[in-house]
Amino acid sequence: MSDERSKSESLYERAKRVLPGGVSRNTVLRKPHPAYVDRASGSRVVDIDGVERIDFANNMASLIHGHSHPTVVAAVTEQLQRGTAYSMATEVEVRFAEHLRQRNPSFEMVRFVNSGTEAVMTAIKAARAFTGRPKIAKVEGAYHGGYDYAETSQESNPDNWGSMESPERVPTTFGTPSAVLADVVVVPFNAPDRAIEILERHRGEVACVLLDPMPHRVGLVPADPEFVSALRGWTEADGSLLVADEVITFRSEYGGAQTWYDLVPDLTALGKIIGGGFPVGAVAGRAEVMEVMNPLASRVLFPHSGTFSANPVTMTAGLCAMELYDGASVASLNSLGERAVAGLREAIDGAGVPVSVTGRGSLFRFHLKEEAPHDYRSGYMSPEDRRRLGVLIDSLFDDGLIVMSSGTAAMSTPMGREEVERLVDGAAKGLEKAFR
Ligand code: PMP
Repeated sequence: MSDERSKSESLYERAKRVLPGGVSRNTVLRKPHPAYVDRASGSRVVDIDGVERIDFANNMASLIHGHSHPTVVAAVTEQLQRGTAYSMATEVEVRFAEHLRQRNPSFEMVRFVNSGTEAVMTAIKAARAFTGRPKIAKVEGAYHGGYDYAETSQESNPDNWGSMESPERVPTTFGTPSAVLADVVVVPFNAPDRAIEILERHRGEVACVLLDPMPHRVGLVPADPEFVSALRGWTEADGSLLVADEVITFRSEYGGAQTWYDLVPDLTALGKIIGGGFPVGAVAGRAEVMEVMNPLASRVLFPHSGTFSANPVTMTAGLCAMELYDGASVASLNSLGERAVAGLREAIDGAGVPVSVTGRGSLFRFHLKEEAPHDYRSGYMSPEDRRRLGVLIDSLFDDGLIVMSSGTAAMSTPMGREEVERLVDGAAKGLEKAFR
């Protein structure tokens, strides 16, 4: 009898024996099995069974130029031949830090790390070292990576999230020490009065308020200017720091989504696109604060290292990708994203389904409910919302279109009208199925 299973299905059987759940990160899991990649180029990914798809997930919004951009590949290939990592510094990390600083004047000093999780952790530790205070504040539902403090209340649910006046600090990982939770303050998104009322209870104890200007898991809704200025004003009065998490949103403008606002954060966590396709993170910000990591200081408040930090492969790819993503490129990708959203809204209206789309520029997200969410609680999916979203995602996938399992799309610069039309057509079909 011939083996009717696809190559991906067979590979997943092997994977389950050596990797928990058969995966190395939960985001690649698909039921009944993930599709394994053979190769990718530009906006297209081909799996090991030979199926080609248009990639609107782009490794969780980290590939601004899609896959294997020829200029990045050439630069990295040249670097690979000269070595991949040394116990010595390289010129490219200096050039890359200079490049980032000219993108945003608040990035006076930069430290490179290897992931967004590490960037957020490093920013929090720098804020604690600078202020000498233990607590951090964060928005309910916001994803900031896997650091214990930063992941608190990332997945709270109606059974455990408590009142809006006093959201519970909900551990994400079983066994998280209660001492961690005691040092986290959770505030609701885009509710400035409530947030300030909660923060006031911790006056003088907060090292930093962590804010993603358009938090993905909260619903991919931009922060209101009033919310941003309330948090900035409170931190200034309190002597705490404002840390912007722009791991995802840095793509949104040449100097990041923070430039939508009258906002100068003390520190910004970066990641994803700035690695040019390689693992990366960075903390950038006020020189006075970054000084806590200065190893030349008479007393180093925050000794910081990392074996692969600022490795020349990531630095080369990142600098090359970011130079290509110049002001004109940012503007044209944003307008392509806006055209896609306009097309999707037309398709939604045409189908008469209760669906909303949030986001801005090259990032957007489907919500299978009539009203766009305005915070984590209003965006929280019921089992039926989740089922419908699953139908949409699967239908898109079968139609050769990859979006994230949250229903989020992150466009890349090799995309154009054809990719947008395919997405709009695929979404119209998928939404019709989801509400059948
Ligand atoms: N912050 C935000 C806003 C993110 O979206 C992510 C990753 N999705 C992280 C931090 C963590 O980044 P990484 O996965 O590189 O650790």
